[in-house]
Amino acid sequence: MLRVLKEIFIAIPIGMFTVLKQMFHKPVTLNYPFVKEPMMPRYRGLHFLERYDSDGSERCVCCGLCAASCPADAIYMEPAETERGERYAKIYEINELRCIFCGFCEEACPEEAIFLGREYEFAADHRDKFIYTKDDLLVKWPRTKPSEVKFLRPLRRVDWQQEQHPH
Ligand code: SF4
Ligand code: SF4
Repeated sequence: MLRVLKEIFIAIPIGMFTVLKQMFHKPVTLNYPFVKEPMMPRYRGLHFLERYDSDGSERCVCCGLCAASCPADAIYMEPAETERGERYAKIYEINELRCIFCGFCEEACPEEAIFLGREYEFAADHRDKFIYTKDDLLVKWPRTKPSEVKFLRPLRRVDWQQEQHPH
């Protein structure tokens, strides 16, 4: 009996008070996907392959340095040559399920061809859909949006001298 009375006169009012208090608090969650939290500037998301602004040609020369530097063995490519003898990637694939988004591929690339962008919404309903092909990775031409590279480049280039000898 005493336990029932305690619940009616103490526990329930405390619970109601807690609910009412929370109703006037700012919510800690977001109404995703309608509202999105801005990502940190150095966030590394889905990869993209860049093109030259001058003529839209592919920057990647299929040198293989990105694949060699990848600790997750997530990059596969096959080279080919154009009629003018220019090397390019006939096949270029990234397994986004293997990728740990370390950014080593971007750092290793001598052509500034591969970047990790800020896209994080690439959920899929089948494992095969996480193998991103060149068609998926190469930025559209003509561009449908401004290149992200000007924004990303200064953020990702670490000044090692400054880091090791700050003063
Ligand atoms: S993305 Fe860069 S590092 Fe990778 S194969 Fe192409 S040019 Fe070489
Ligand atoms: S971000 Fe890292 S793990 Fe992912 S493909 Fe590039 S090097 Fe490999």
